Amino acid sequence: MSDHYVKVKVQLEQMKSFGEDAEKEGVDTEEQLPVSSPPASVSPDPSSTTIAGRDASNISITCKHRGKSRTKQGKDDKNSCGKDISDLSLHGSVVSAHDGKNLNRLGHERTLHIRGTGKILQGKSETNGNYVTIHASKNVQDMRREDGFKLPKKRRPVTVDTSKAKTSLEALKLSIKQLKWKEFPLGRRTACDIYWHGVSFHDNENIVSGQVNKFPGMIEMLRKINLSRAVRTMQELFPEEYDFYPRSWILPEEYQQFSTQIRMVKENDATVNPTFIVKPDGGSQGDGIYLIRDPSDLKLMAGSQAKQGVVQEYIQKPLLIDKLKFDIRLYVLIKSLEPLEIYIAKEGLTRFCTEPYQEPSQKNLSHVFMHLTNYSLNVHSGNFVHSDSQSTGSKRTLSSVLYRLAAKGVDIKKVWSDIIALVIKTVIAVVPELKVYYQADIPPGKPGPTCFQILGFDILLMKNLKPVLLEVNSNPSMRIEHEQEVKVNDVKIKAFMLLFYYYYFISIILFFQVAPGVFEYVPSPVDEDVKVGVIRDTLRLMDPGHKKPSTSQPRAAGFEHREEIPMEAETQERSPDEGALPSLCLKQVYPKYTKQFNYLRLVERIAALFIRFLGVKGNMRLGPTAFRTFIRTCKLSNSNFTMASVDILYIDITRRWSGTTPDSREAGMGLQAFVEAFFFLAGRRFKSLVLKEQVVSLLELCEAQLESQSGVEDRRSLSCSRALPRAVKTQTLGLTNPQLGSPAPLRRAASQDYRLHQKLKPRTLRANVEN
Ligand code: ADP
Repeated sequence: MSDHYVKVKVQLEQMKSFGEDAEKEGVDTEEQLPVSSPPASVSPDPSSTTIAGRDASNISITCKHRGKSRTKQGKDDKNSCGKDISDLSLHGSVVSAHDGKNLNRLGHERTLHIRGTGKILQGKSETNGNYVTIHASKNVQDMRREDGFKLPKKRRPVTVDTSKAKTSLEALKLSIKQLKWKEFPLGRRTACDIYWHGVSFHDNENIVSGQVNKFPGMIEMLRKINLSRAVRTMQELFPEEYDFYPRSWILPEEYQQFSTQIRMVKENDATVNPTFIVKPDGGSQGDGIYLIRDPSDLKLMAGSQAKQGVVQEYIQKPLLIDKLKFDIRLYVLIKSLEPLEIYIAKEGLTRFCTEPYQEPSQKNLSHVFMHLTNYSLNVHSGNFVHSDSQSTGSKRTLSSVLYRLAAKGVDIKKVWSDIIALVIKTVIAVVPELKVYYQADIPPGKPGPTCFQILGFDILLMKNLKPVLLEVNSNPSMRIEHEQEVKVNDVKIKAFMLLFYYYYFISIILFFQVAPGVFEYVPSPVDEDVKVGVIRDTLRLMDPGHKKPSTSQPRAAGFEHREEIPMEAETQERSPDEGALPSLCLKQVYPKYTKQFNYLRLVERIAALFIRFLGVKGNMRLGPTAFRTFIRTCKLSNSNFTMASVDILYIDITRRWSGTTPDSREAGMGLQAFVEAFFFLAGRRFKSLVLKEQVVSLLELCEAQLESQSGVEDRRSLSCSRALPRAVKTQTLGLTNPQLGSPAPLRRAASQDYRLHQKLKPRTLRANVEN
């Protein structure tokens, strides 16, 4: 029986009494949840959480330590709070942590039993946030040596430029302290190892080395329209795999389509009465969102301007807890684009509505506290509950919700693995265009930083427990405070209010005990636990002194090494300097699950062709000549499809796409238009196949052509006494960016993966070629 299982069992026992309470509170799960496997099958990650025994007194101690209130600084904040579920393991081997307090809590001692050694490790969190080992038994050092670590060498601390960190500054400072790294709050004349930006890659334009915590183009890519388009492309290729995103229409261009489709659905079945949610393109925090039941209710114009946005199928039957709708905020790290590396935070947050849920009706459509889970909206409801407990209130940890479901017999292992799949598939959908942005901003051959980014995934669980993607935030709030209405109990404010209202409203104030409309920021221990963990462990993974794991081997290795799935992050990613830190709260999911998902990466291969023909100038759009060159080089024209037809295709598709996206001022063919052209060409050439097979076949054809030509180029340059240096040759062949190229072994392996997933009988390529 695994430790894991034991832990979960103990926790569920501890939850028994809690479960009984929950029943009294009225969890809707009896009515709603399909009861499946018993809690024994709890997922590895959620189950490693310790949810019990975090008493309010611990929290209040922390509040006193760092308890300064802050006034509101801005409104770019979306959340929330939670609890670090990373168990306090050393190489994953801790059996118990006698003190249930979190590492981020200050000034607490902790005793850890090291499994298999009988030794005890004692540690203490200092008031500065550092965690120091008081006593580490010799065996721990031995274990570390056995695990292949050299004993710590003194090395220069990693430097972090925090001058642009904005609202994540406080969590970042705590993380840097815990890591004993060096912070540069005002920037630095010489280069830093890491630059932490609050908003975008472009917050600081002059970075030529190191690592930046934002990818160029991420904000644009994750706007509602672009995300919907990217997912839709994947839905065309893999409808079953991408059914986690609600059906969406782009506004205003697809209004007619939307209107016609809904009318037809209603005509076919009069009992169907769907609801739709309308979201402005660049909106956040629920701004501008509304529900409709009929296309004619859409507000298409803002003044004389057509409103850009999406209208989306509204999920009418969400899973409810305490009769309330809630959604999940999950933190995801994209560590690198090439090779693709994705990590998921083991702990997340859940944000609850503040008015009991009812299925949408004409009467309740405008009840935002019933239908929208945004923290920023619900915090203004009189029913919002600030709770220091992780498992009650309007913001709870994901683990506390999963445990509650597990206690009801829900198969949370399945829920968790569905969530991981949703995240990987979504990232695979946006990566192709991100690569286009990347090469435009950091052109190959030009000095520039590398990038990583923490994203915030908003996920809704349906009543049948299926996770649905609502949106992805490129700048999830990393605030470790929450907004709260000022309590009149505060002596100073009370005195002020008493003075102010003395003659008029004193009785009303005393009655309500709050100062309505007056908000302040107060420390949120749960926010701190989750977010500092995510930032600190992101930094640990990005540590430039870290020996790269096998996944970051030179590109040439590509996916041919995909069988060697790296070990769990906890054991692999630790550096010798990290002895006193807890195990990583970020779990690697890609390349770990490469085998399961690699076959989905078809659009990325199309993007590799696109980038190759863009040239090396950092363009984002293909001109007509470059498109012709693509057709010629890949030998896609023939007597049935002449170069004149190619030009017509280019003009037709480019014209349709111009004006459809907010940033389409630039002339030429963008990636999405190129993908459409590619699908068209694939359909034309391999008529008898289904779309994804058509696309794979055309990709293989193009890649084979390019490969054979690069072979010729290589031979030519070998026979030439003034051969170009290797790097320059690579650029001229289009594999221009060491981070972004799509080497032949990678492509071959991706094709093989795809074939593995084909359920249809293999056909010979030639038989289907239309010539
Ligand atoms: P914003 O960026 O403004 O927060 P979201 O897409 O996250 O926009 O939507 C806001 C809220 O609306 C979500 O938190 C969720 O509660 C609700 N919501 C969004 N899309 C749907 C949907 N398709 N079905 C049901 N509820 C939704």
